[in-house]
Amino acid sequence: MALITCPECATSVSNKAAACPSCGAPIAGAAVSAEVGVNLTTTQETSKSLKARILLFSAMFWLGCWWLVVASQSGSPAGIAVPVVLSSIGFFGYIVTKAMVWWHHK
Ligand SMILES: [Zn+2]
Repeated sequence: MALITCPECATSVSNKAAACPSCGAPIAGAAVSAEVGVNLTTTQETSKSLKARILLFSAMFWLGCWWLVVASQSGSPAGIAVPVVLSSIGFFGYIVTKAMVWWHHK
């Protein structure tokens, strides 16, 4: 239990109280919605950065695959090293990021 200041009349009120005993302003509801708001913001930020990484890694993977097809048609074995590395990084980055997304979900 903690004492908070009533937003309406500045009296010290328990944060478990449903309403301020002095002026009747709702306390517990306001505290709960503030906590939920903070949690939603945190989750949204995390998933957005992870979504950006999934996009980046899948773009690297598909670019590497496309590049590999183009390079293999030219017939030089040395030319496929870069697209193989690129699509490998994209593939493993995608797997790792998917695992991180799964880890973030409770
Ligand atoms: Zn009050």
